[in-house]
Amino acid sequence: MSETLRDMPVIFFMMDGVRPDAIDAADTPTLDGMRQRGAYTAMAQSVMPSITLPCHMSIFKSVPPSRHGILQNEYMPLARPVMGLIEHLHNNGIDSAMYYNWDYLRDVVQPGHLYRNFYSNTSLDPEGDVPTVEAACEGISKNDAKFSFVYLGTTDTMGHAAGWMSDMYLRQIEKIDGLIAQVLHAAPANSRVLIHSDHGGHERTHGTDMPEDMNIPWMLAGPGIKEGHAIGRDVSLLDTAPTIASLFGLEPHQQWEGSPVTEAYVDGGMA
Ligand SMILES: [Zn+2]
Repeated sequence: MSETLRDMPVIFFMMDGVRPDAIDAADTPTLDGMRQRGAYTAMAQSVMPSITLPCHMSIFKSVPPSRHGILQNEYMPLARPVMGLIEHLHNNGIDSAMYYNWDYLRDVVQPGHLYRNFYSNTSLDPEGDVPTVEAACEGISKNDAKFSFVYLGTTDTMGHAAGWMSDMYLRQIEKIDGLIAQVLHAAPANSRVLIHSDHGGHERTHGTDMPEDMNIPWMLAGPGIKEGHAIGRDVSLLDTAPTIASLFGLEPHQQWEGSPVTEAYVDGGMA
């Protein structure tokens, strides 16, 4: 194969607050297709507290909140810094882009490491993932930054407004299913695609260690990934950064505590 792993894009979609059983209850052809042509678990685990910014710090730094110290939706510089995914990729010559609509996520990466950054303050608007996706379609189709993070925040907003597993919450998941399809259509054909959520939810909240808050869907598909594979190992938010690094052929950073989900790879380990 003339093409190297680092030339093949990786697109990571975050569906904020989406429960695995909600994907079953909603009409989601894109996510269903991902599961059929990729590797999937409905039993991946969030971290405590199961709150958006603590979860994202654990995703991008591969350590639990007890290590990174971000315990609420408010960023504080880390007393003992941990290498982030985007910094690790940057230090290995791989460019990254972020597309998001919740401002606090700007702190998942230190200044000076992003190739492209798109933010719109629209996560509270039910149509607020549209500008994010339009920017992602335009940026990803250029195929310059090889890692793209696409954050879809409206599903969490609808969970808080109408209740987790309510009709309006399920319809919002169907909406982002269509938006994800738009990005996949614009993406290069050799893209590897990771989709998961940060936490679930119950009633109109989340943050506890209840299974409704902690169980999350985690799915990976694309060249080199097993098709229709049910992931048997334990997967947590800490495993995402090591997995994305390994998809580019990189070792995890030594500070990271998660491990790449190589069980999902056709050859059992591409790194
Ligand atoms: Zn929330």
